[in-house]
Order: sequence, then C-alpha cells, then structure tokens
Amino acid sequence: MTATSQSAPLYITMHAADNVAIVANDGGLPSGATFPSGLVLREHVPQGHKVALVDLPAGSPVRRYNVTIGNALKDIPAGSWVHERLLQMPDARELANLPIATVKPEPLPPLEGYTFEGFRNPDGSVGTRNILAITQTVQCVAGVTDFAVRRIKAELLPKFPNVDDVVALEHGYGCGVAIDAPDAIIPIRTLRNISLNPNFGGEVMLVSLGCEKLQPERLMPPGTIPLVDERNVADVGVTAESKLDVVCLQDDAHVGFMSMVDSIMRQAEEHLERLNARQRETVPASELVVGVQCGGSDAFSGVTANPAVGFCTDLLVRAGASVMFSEVTEVRDGIDQLTSRATTPEVAEAMIREMAWYDAYLQRGSADRSANTTPGNKKGGLSNIVEKAMGSIVKSGSSPISGVLAPGEKLRQKGLTYAATPASDFICGTLQLAAGMNLHVFTTGRGTPYGLAEVPVIKVATRSDLARRWHDLMDINAGTIADGSATIEEVGWEMFRLMLDVASGRKKTWAEHWKLHNSLVLFNPAPIT
Ligand code: CA
Repeated sequence: MTATSQSAPLYITMHAADNVAIVANDGGLPSGATFPSGLVLREHVPQGHKVALVDLPAGSPVRRYNVTIGNALKDIPAGSWVHERLLQMPDARELANLPIATVKPEPLPPLEGYTFEGFRNPDGSVGTRNILAITQTVQCVAGVTDFAVRRIKAELLPKFPNVDDVVALEHGYGCGVAIDAPDAIIPIRTLRNISLNPNFGGEVMLVSLGCEKLQPERLMPPGTIPLVDERNVADVGVTAESKLDVVCLQDDAHVGFMSMVDSIMRQAEEHLERLNARQRETVPASELVVGVQCGGSDAFSGVTANPAVGFCTDLLVRAGASVMFSEVTEVRDGIDQLTSRATTPEVAEAMIREMAWYDAYLQRGSADRSANTTPGNKKGGLSNIVEKAMGSIVKSGSSPISGVLAPGEKLRQKGLTYAATPASDFICGTLQLAAGMNLHVFTTGRGTPYGLAEVPVIKVATRSDLARRWHDLMDINAGTIADGSATIEEVGWEMFRLMLDVASGRKKTWAEHWKLHNSLVLFNPAPIT
C-alpha cells in the first residue's frame, strides 16, 4: 500500500441529492474500509469509481451531479461498487420542449487590469506565437513541403530570431473527396480559417499540386486575405491577380525536385521577413481566444480539473476574453442546461440545430452518443456518456452562452461560445484552431501527451497521481482539489495567471518544451470517392 492509500477513506459527492459518490483515495479502497459517515465498503472500489451511498433497488435512478446517470439493473446494497454493468443508460434528451434562455445569471463583475504581451495583427486579432504556417491544398504535396520545411528551419529560420517556428499545415484532404457534397464545406472552411489563425500574422502561403480538386482559389477565394493582399501590392508590387501566394508543384517551370524546394524556400523567406518584424506589445486579457477541451477523461475530470477550468472560463469572460467549449457528444446529454443558459432564443436555437445535425450524422453511421466513452474512461470510473457529459459541461463555467459556431467557422465575438465539434481530441483542436483560438486548455485524467504545433496547449491533470508520474508533461495539477490542499478557485486563478504567462511567451508549456504535437485532423463528414 502506498502512503496515500493509507490515509483516511474519502469519497466525493457532487450534489446533496446524489446517491453515489466517487472514491478519492489513490489506489482505491479495500472491502471493509469505513468512511467518516459510517458507510462500509462491501468490496474493493478502484479510485475514481462510484460507491452506493444508500441501498439502490433494481430500477431506481442512480444520481450524480443531481442528474440520473442510469437506472440500477438489480438491487445494489449501500457500500457496493456501482460500475457500468449495473446501470441502464437513460435515453438521450429529445431536442424538443427545451428550456430556452430561461436562466439569467447575475452578470459577474468585470475583471480589469490583466494584460499579456501579444503580437497585434493588421486585422486587429492578437497572436500568442509568431509562426510561419505553410498551407497545403492537398495531401499529395506533404512530403515535398516537409522536406522544404526542414531546410527552412535549418537554413532560414536562424536569420529571423523573432519567428518562433515554421509549421506545415498537413492534412489528409484535397483530392479523392466528394468536394461538391454539401458537407464538404466543413473541411474546406476549416483549412481556410486555420490558415488565418492569429498566430500566423496574416501571412498565407500555399503549396499546391496542380491537378487536385481543392484548387487554391477555392480554398482561399478572393477577399479572404485582404490585409496580406494590400501589403503584397504595396511591398512587392504584385498585381491584384497574383495576390494568392501559391507554389504549384506541377508548374511547367519546375525542372527537378530541387526547383520545387527552392521555390517554396524563396516564398517562405518573404513571409519570414515580414513575420520577423512583428513585436510583442502589451494587450488586454480580452484578446485571449481560449479553446477548452478534455481528453482521456476519468471520474475526477468532472470533480477537479473541469470545475477549475469552468472557474477560469468565468474569469476570462469577466476579463472580456473569448472562450470556446466544444465536443458535441460530451454535452448532448446536458442540452437543457445549455439552452437555458443561452443569452437569446436565437443562440439556443443554433445550439439545438448543431445537436440535431450531429444526431443525424451519428445516426447515418448507425451510432449514437454512447459510442463516445472509451475503455479508459470506464476504467477511470465513468460508466457512460451521461456521467461523462455532466463532468465535461462544467468546463463552460456559469456565464451566459452568447454564441454558437458550426464546425470550422471563425469566431467573431467575445464571451462564451459553444463551438460545435466532435469530441475527438485532434479534430476538436483542429476546429478550435480554425475558429481562431490563440491558447488551448486541455484537461486529462487518464493522461495524454497531446499538443499542437500551431498554438500553446496548457495541460491540466485531474489527479495528483498522474501529475506526479507525468511531472514533465502536465502543466497544472488540479488533483490538489481532491487532496484538499487547494480549492477550485485557487486552481482556476493559477490557470488564469499561467495563461497570461504562456500567451506572453514568458513560459512554455511542456508540450512546447518537448515539441510534442499531434496532426491536424480535418472533420470531413462528406463522402470520400
Ligand atoms: Ca476531447
């Protein structure tokens, strides 16, 4: 037994009306363990798993977060381990007769005086990093672009010390796809809007193959990059027709592979020169565009890390910043909580529209929201998607929800926005990048080394055991909340301050330190041909 598991048996209840609680002790607790309430365990219960606080007769509702997460499939005596095989999951809430904009939270007092050092862009947005991104119209060019990027990093980047990195926006889209299918708009606008992420300073350059379905003009129609166009005209003197900066590999001018590589490097150098002139300046915290997400969740996610993120979300909203929460299947079961928090009926209707679209998308594949939970979630104590969703929604804090984005759309407002995305970590991160995220917060209970090359990712551990073992991967330990050594508010403030440091470039996240990053994964609900 470890020292911590010898400490007094401890369970955590989320609401006074709950009839189950989760075991907090590292390593779980053995049969016979007695809680201060007098409850005695009838069997071993792993850490993060549920224990019945009272006798639960067959068919009765099992409540956590004051929500029915399932009905008992047989009699469950008090002190038993309540796991997924003992629960019948309730049906999904219908998307009709929902409470619409019924909750009017008292506006929280504004939070003033907080700033960070960011890169102000010509369009008014602010970057937290200074990165040259090279957009690709199609996967076919990925190898050539990667070769060129390695040479750019080795030969050009040292000449431009203000530029943090060069990143190829590699993806699997562009050809072999039904590009005129209605849903193809999602991957196309995602890629377009990622190219315009504030961390790239409005410098857009494309590498194209030539014969692909996603032609450069379709990816970046005239007018999508107006500020760069103006600058190109002024600085380089190019004509309005040639304003899109494209290196086309099939161009007749290229003879040999090195001609392509040299061409990409030549174009990159022009962008690097302009990026290198960018300077950090003091900007208000309201310029943060934060995407919050969870992955590898356990039963502590909804107890420690996600509530701390929720508190921090409220701080950000009070500071006038933009915050996005996402992951359709992880909020679907709490739709009534969300529609009631919408600022207007239009916002609530947009939320319902996105949920209905996703229900239909899943149904087309003969799946439903229950396909979300993973073996790791269940091992971590989450019995089903209802329980997981209740713990996920708390990331959104308590502020009113003032906006809704469809997948791949660009965010254009402050405050709390529901950005509809799949829950898949890389797809959600990719879509939040497209929305314009300049800082990412990611909570994990089971542990994932997740990172993105395009934006800093602050990772939050839900348990002290994970934070201890992954001490050089996790940026914040929210497990201190379960240990009783910190409060949700304290960890929320720690997160807020770390955000300002990371956004300013004063601190690097562990993922940045090790250069750990996952692939961009475009959400493509349209057919592949
Ligand atoms: Ca996720």
